[in-house]
Amino acid sequence: MTIAIYPGSFDPITYGHVDVATRAARLFAKLIIGVYKTPGKSLLFTLEERVKLARQAMVKLPNVEVQSFSGLAIDFARRVKAQAMVRGLRVSADFEREFDMAMMNRRLYPELELVCFMASPEYQFLSSSLLKEVARLGGDISGLVPKHVAEALRKKEGVNKM
Ligand code: ADP
Repeated sequence: MTIAIYPGSFDPITYGHVDVATRAARLFAKLIIGVYKTPGKSLLFTLEERVKLARQAMVKLPNVEVQSFSGLAIDFARRVKAQAMVRGLRVSADFEREFDMAMMNRRLYPELELVCFMASPEYQFLSSSLLKEVARLGGDISGLVPKHVAEALRKKEGVNKM
């Protein structure tokens, strides 16, 4: 049984992530979305919120589970006995970053295979950070995130404006 992890910040999960996870879930027996506790970027949602939003987005996929992790993604992979790591690739900037990370990860854990999914054309431009910016400024984000995520973003912005 091939197990894959799909690590990331998921702050919050978008249809771009859902698309990659759905495609990966067809390929692997089990896909574990790993929500990274403390990425080196500022976060809008807490770890618990990011996990909850991701879980809700994945309810229809029985072989996908969501867990949080801290520390190195390769140690998370070891712990859950994953043989592969899934990542999504949007533009060339993603490629350069992923390539460096993949080389480092290969050094640290050569048995772990990296599988990259090219972003679907409709989500090429979609990132959690751009999404948060648009949501903050009151732009229409329907079609980019599941309804419960749009609702969570609205609530968060409401709280931040108070
Ligand atoms: P990280 O902080 O690790 O980049 P993200 O939550 O931003 O975490 O992204 C997790 C993974 O999902 C990364 O591999 C990223 O390239 C990929 N990803 C993000 N948005 C999209 C998208 N719209 N389409 C495809 N892959 C995406």
